[in-house]
Amino acid sequence: MRLVILGGGESGVGTAILGKKKGYEVFVSDFGKIKGNYKEVLIINGIAWEEEKHTENLILNADVVMKSPGIPEKSPIVKKLFEKGIPVISEIEFAAPFTDATIIGITGSNGKTTTTMLTHHLLKSAGLNVGLGGNIGKSFAWQIADNKYDSYVLELSSFQLDGIVNFKPHIAIITNISPDHLDRYDYKYEKYIDSKFRITMNQTEDDYLLYDADDEAINEWFKTHTTKAKLIPFSLTKTFSEGAYIKNNKMEIKINREELTMDTEYIALEGKHNMKNAMAATSVAKLMQIRKATIRESLSNFQGVEHRLEKVLKIQNVQYINDSKATNVNATFFALDSMNTPTVWIVGGVDKGNDYTELMSLVREKVKAIICLGVDNKKIIDVFGNVVDIMVEVSTMTDAVKMAQRLTEKGDSV
Ligand code: ADP
Repeated sequence: MRLVILGGGESGVGTAILGKKKGYEVFVSDFGKIKGNYKEVLIINGIAWEEEKHTENLILNADVVMKSPGIPEKSPIVKKLFEKGIPVISEIEFAAPFTDATIIGITGSNGKTTTTMLTHHLLKSAGLNVGLGGNIGKSFAWQIADNKYDSYVLELSSFQLDGIVNFKPHIAIITNISPDHLDRYDYKYEKYIDSKFRITMNQTEDDYLLYDADDEAINEWFKTHTTKAKLIPFSLTKTFSEGAYIKNNKMEIKINREELTMDTEYIALEGKHNMKNAMAATSVAKLMQIRKATIRESLSNFQGVEHRLEKVLKIQNVQYINDSKATNVNATFFALDSMNTPTVWIVGGVDKGNDYTELMSLVREKVKAIICLGVDNKKIIDVFGNVVDIMVEVSTMTDAVKMAQRLTEKGDSV
């Protein structure tokens, strides 16, 4: 069997190692440059590779192709593979059959990394032999080739899910859905939503789907689709006989006739969005039969993930927060929502066709100054110019922070 791998990054090289170990004839082709350390691994393992080109006669003779998530389906080489009817799959699809570990798959527009890390923390602290993978850290395929874990917590992007055929997680989470990456989905939001829900398409009655029951796109999807998996909703506003919710500042998890209650103030993560992430991760821990005391302790000592509402420093009584992973409007909404001091907001980047209206009232209420640091500042200035008095443009992060320091006073946040 000839396995061709497009992309020589973490998932590509991991798949190559696993494929080689399982007796495939493996070839790695990368249109860009392959990083030195990955090249070394390929060479040491006697795996054929090329870079800065795709040699068609070495690719179109594949029995199966693993496409790395970064490569669009529209790229010429992938189109040719489709035309020839050669199966093009993702890393998780290729790797999963080689393990019988319990798989927990986490997708969504925001909160994947945080929920994945927290879930892993809960399970690992309880002594489970659990791996962490997907979009984070070491590739899933590589870990299967190297290690023997009994379970895996995987962060799954929609691109990974687009390349599945039979893959099914025992426990799936959809953290939420809001418009993102639409350039890869012909600017059709439905396509992106369907892609996220692929996480449940092969699940059976013995599996679980955990989802944000406050999410409009998710609720809409359920009106016209079904899944065989057992549903476990989580919500900030509703309550359930089976599911997770927040009531009177307590997180309540009700699963399989068992109940866990915890004061939200003892949960180390902050912000409403993180309460959702905590409910999702805790539900997994319950399904995996982790003891309540262990869950409580782990929720209270999990310190969050860097670049996600990360409290970096407090200088002259001004709190500086790094939320640079807030790359869409929904993540920004929850970031501003969780601010409880006057805030200087450093914002910018490339406009992805963002609609800022849902931020309006939060910005009016909490933001005292906006520092624009990006390419498409005009739109931000146009939209928020009326509600924020101070609008400044800068071109480097250093200038942004210096400017922020000038605009703040004691008790503010940046
Ligand atoms: P992802 O891996 O899906 O990008 P991260 O955990 O890295 O998610 O968080 C990305 C951004 O989204 C951060 O700014 C974070 O504060 C914010 N965020 C985290 N969880 C949620 C959530 N449940 N809903 C909305 N925003 C969230």
